Amino acid sequence: MNIDIVNENISFDVYKLRKEFPLLDQQINGCPLVYFDNAATNQKPLSVINSIREYYETINSNVHRGIHTLSERATEAYENSREKVREFISASGSNEIIFVRGTTEAVNLAASTYGMQFINEGDEIIVSAMEHHSNLVPWQNLTSRKKALLKFIPITDNGELVMDEFKSMLNEKVKFISVVYVSNTLGTINPVKEIISAAHSYNIPVFIDAAQASPHIKIDVKELDCDFLAFSGHKTYGPTGIGILYAKEKYLDLMPPYQFGGEMIKNVSYEHTEYNNLPFKFEAGTPNISGAVSLASAIDFINEKGLLNIARHESDLLKYAENRMNEIEGMNIIGNAKNKTGVISFIINGIHPYDTGSILDNLGIAVRTGFHCTQPLIEQRYNLPGTVRISFAVYNTVEEIDRFIDGLHKVKKMLS
Ligand code: PLP
Repeated sequence: MNIDIVNENISFDVYKLRKEFPLLDQQINGCPLVYFDNAATNQKPLSVINSIREYYETINSNVHRGIHTLSERATEAYENSREKVREFISASGSNEIIFVRGTTEAVNLAASTYGMQFINEGDEIIVSAMEHHSNLVPWQNLTSRKKALLKFIPITDNGELVMDEFKSMLNEKVKFISVVYVSNTLGTINPVKEIISAAHSYNIPVFIDAAQASPHIKIDVKELDCDFLAFSGHKTYGPTGIGILYAKEKYLDLMPPYQFGGEMIKNVSYEHTEYNNLPFKFEAGTPNISGAVSLASAIDFINEKGLLNIARHESDLLKYAENRMNEIEGMNIIGNAKNKTGVISFIINGIHPYDTGSILDNLGIAVRTGFHCTQPLIEQRYNLPGTVRISFAVYNTVEEIDRFIDGLHKVKKMLS
């Protein structure tokens, strides 16, 4: 089936688009690869791969420090990328964009700067019951060090936040909230705007973990009015080792630096250091310059295809896959929120997720099995030993889903 996606003067053909992703064109265990592990990391288009190569072939140099031409070119490319990220998430100023290694580092930065400075004994921090470990453990660590309390927004069996419960948890003891925009395990798109507005009525700052949002839905930090937000380059068609932390300037100004040395310094004597202006105050040492530059190419790729087109395509795949999966006897889909991205966690009655994953891998189909870095969600909330997860990207097709369904029938035949 040829899915031609047309929206707002932009159109793409998924089969043509796949040619932009060289990795997809290979055999695994003698079968054409089906890559359904996009929530872990997605594949990179040639434009991104080429931009890394071009950076090292033409302008590689250290940023912000040299007056020589190459250093100026590298600095310009690096700062252009920051501006591209600002535009991508509709932030007010590029000084509110901090380059980090990824979402995990962004959460750690916020917890160990804002958190260590402003969270005190007896305070409360709220996260949800569906957080990735990266947006759970840093807050667990902070609250235990500060003798503060970590509270969890409960979720329904369908995988949606219980919003009434959340609102009743708000009071003047709550000093910070951090929630995931899109669950990497359930696919749920959380009502983060509603969360932020309820939190702001108590003057509570809100951090949004947008790791699973950035490749699928338009992020607008001004419209959301979030105080902090993070995403990872490698889940956004960009390279590993680069991501961003967005924070409102008023918070970045208040926060102490995260790491010390290099670019975060304005003036230093043997006795004293004056820290650099934003955003450099939070970018110690030589940054991942090629990563930042190629993240800009990844954003260009997304803009060229159109996030709305991407979302529509993935939503079609989601509906098709869920319908076909429900044909299989003993199929349990975990996470049936009304508002979902293309992520499906499931178990087949009586079959261990690991066995399903191994057989699918033998057929060239890459899926993820286990806890998906949400162990409390899977073990404590859903009481499961793990799930199998498939997750879609812009280049996936209906034929791949058909192959996956055939694979599941084989799994059943072999293991039931
Ligand atoms: N948050 C969510 C929802 C994720 O899915 C992930 C990665 O899977 C992370 C945070 C951590 O991202 P990274 O490993 O890129 O730091």
